[in-house]
Amino acid sequence: MDIRTVAVIGAGTMGAGIAQICAQAGWETRLYDAFPEGLENGMSSIEEFWDKGIERGKTTKEQKAEWSEKLSFWGDLSEAVSGTDLVIEAVPEVMELKQEIFRKLEKMAPPNAILATNTSGLQISEIAESTTCGDRIVGMHFFNPVPIMKLLEIVRHDGCSDGTIEVARMIGASMGKEAILVNDVPGFATSRLGVVLGNEAVRMLADGVASASDIDTAMRLGYRHPMGPLELSDLVGLDVRCDILNSLAESFGDDSYRPHDLLEKLVSEGSLGKKSGKGIYNWSDGERSERDDLPM
Ligand code: NAD
Repeated sequence: MDIRTVAVIGAGTMGAGIAQICAQAGWETRLYDAFPEGLENGMSSIEEFWDKGIERGKTTKEQKAEWSEKLSFWGDLSEAVSGTDLVIEAVPEVMELKQEIFRKLEKMAPPNAILATNTSGLQISEIAESTTCGDRIVGMHFFNPVPIMKLLEIVRHDGCSDGTIEVARMIGASMGKEAILVNDVPGFATSRLGVVLGNEAVRMLADGVASASDIDTAMRLGYRHPMGPLELSDLVGLDVRCDILNSLAESFGDDSYRPHDLLEKLVSEGSLGKKSGKGIYNWSDGERSERDDLPM
């Protein structure tokens, strides 16, 4: 299957990044958002990324002009998806919202278009089963920032066809990503391992094993992680991490996945991580420093 035209639904952090790499892959790319401010944010974040690339000598004005030609911004879903070969959904992580979008896509997009969701952990089968075209619905989980992160997690649910998986792999390769194939199990491969490591690191902090920065250094230098689990939790957002842990606990019926009390306490006092200026670390002007009001 040849990919020529792609629509990305939702122009937020992930949707903008996905649309950017689709345009860079040479596909006619349509970025749709239900809100004008969403589209504006998406547009400016892509512009900014390309302009920084030019400043740093990583790309050229000519290259940016070529990519920009491929990218357009849409406020009407049915027009945005007409004649597409691939639609990638990146709206907020709410099951009912995703189901509603996929029911619309089933009617509005061409009958042979691949329909992908960028959900971080919702069950793809629950989305697919709300339509009658589950065979062409697949999880394509990208990582933030999309243009930089190499991994693509392809998630296969029971009703997905082999052909859809094959096309998803081909799409990932054309985008320059390295794909892994994962079954449709809560938390997939990445989110599950990532949040469990972060939660255990918070437990160690609460137990007074070591300071936050020493726990992070242990994993960076001892295990060659590019970033420690506590710093990473602050970057992702402690509220986001709590939501994923709670949803894993519910899906598996296993309370050992529940967020540690310290993690919940930080979230309830508004310490959400880098985005709120304070999390496990203090974040001032984007620089992190140890908090003196946490254990160790
Ligand atoms: P975001 O909040 O930055 O962006 C969501 C966008 O969707 C917004 O621009 C919003 O205006 C738009 N939107 C809301 N309702 C819509 C609708 N009905 N139709 C069209 N657009 C609508 O969210 P995000 O961080 O980009 O996350 C999007 C998805 O990607 C979620 O499923 C999330 O779990 C997943 N994800 C996020 C990350 C991350 O690091 N942020 C990483 C991997 C996957």
